[in-house]
Amino acid sequence: MNSHFPKMATDDLDFQRTALFLDVDGTLLDFAATPDRVVVPDGLAATIARLEDLLGGALAIVTGRTLADLDRLFFPLRTRAAGVHGAELRFAPDEVAIEAQGAAPLPEGLWREFAAVTDAFPGALPENKRYSFTAHYRAAPQAAAPLRAALLSLLERQATGDFELTDALCAYEIKPSSVNKGEAVRRFLERPPFVGRRPMFVGDDASDEFGFRSVADRRGLAFAVGAARPEVDHVFADPATVRLWLERLAAQPAVS
Ligand SMILES: [Mg+2]
Repeated sequence: MNSHFPKMATDDLDFQRTALFLDVDGTLLDFAATPDRVVVPDGLAATIARLEDLLGGALAIVTGRTLADLDRLFFPLRTRAAGVHGAELRFAPDEVAIEAQGAAPLPEGLWREFAAVTDAFPGALPENKRYSFTAHYRAAPQAAAPLRAALLSLLERQATGDFELTDALCAYEIKPSSVNKGEAVRRFLERPPFVGRRPMFVGDDASDEFGFRSVADRRGLAFAVGAARPEVDHVFADPATVRLWLERLAAQPAVS
C-alpha cells in the first residue's frame, strides 16, 4: 500500500525527532505557465499546518520565491520559511524575516541589463526578487540555450559581486554565490525547534541539491520530485504524490 512512499518516513516517523523542509514549486505545487498562475490545492495549507503542529513547529518552507509571495500564495498560513533560496530567513511564523549573511539586494544596474537580455527572447519573463533575478522561459522553450548563454555572458561582464547562474526547471536565476538552500537548512537546524532533529528535505530542482547535501551531511533524508538527483533517498513521481504523502503523514496520530 505504501510502496510509492519512503517507508521510513511514512510508517516510522518520529515527529518529535524530525524536522521537515519543503520546497514549493515543482514539489508542493504543480508548475503553471508563469509563477503567478500556480494553484494551491484545497486542503494543502491545512495539511502543512497540521504537520507543523505534529512536528512541534520544526517545519520550514524553503523556496526560491520571496516570502511576501509565499505568504500571498498560502494565505492565511504563515510558516517558518526561507525565501529567495535562503536570502530571507523567518525563524518563527510571527517574526519579521531577516537577511541572511552574504545576502544583499542585487544592483539595480544589473537588473536593467538582466531584464533587457531576457526581454530579447519573446515569451521569456524576467522577475526581480531583489536578492536574485530569475528569467522564466517555460513559455519560450526555444530560448533555453541562447538565453542561458546571454545571461552567462552578462555575468562575465560584471566587474564586481560574487554571483552565480543556477539552472531551475524552465528558469535561470542569478543570485549571490553564498546564498543557497543548504545554508538555509543549516541555519534552521542551529535553533529551536529544529536543533537536534533529523532533517528531511523535499525538493525538485538543482537549487534543492544544496538542501539534499545539507541533510545528507546530518544523516537526514533527501527526497527528490520528478527525477533522481545526487544523494536522494527517494524520488516522488510528481507534486500530487508529495501532497498525498504529506496528507498521510498529517493523518497519523501524534505520538505522546
Ligand atoms: Mg522547486
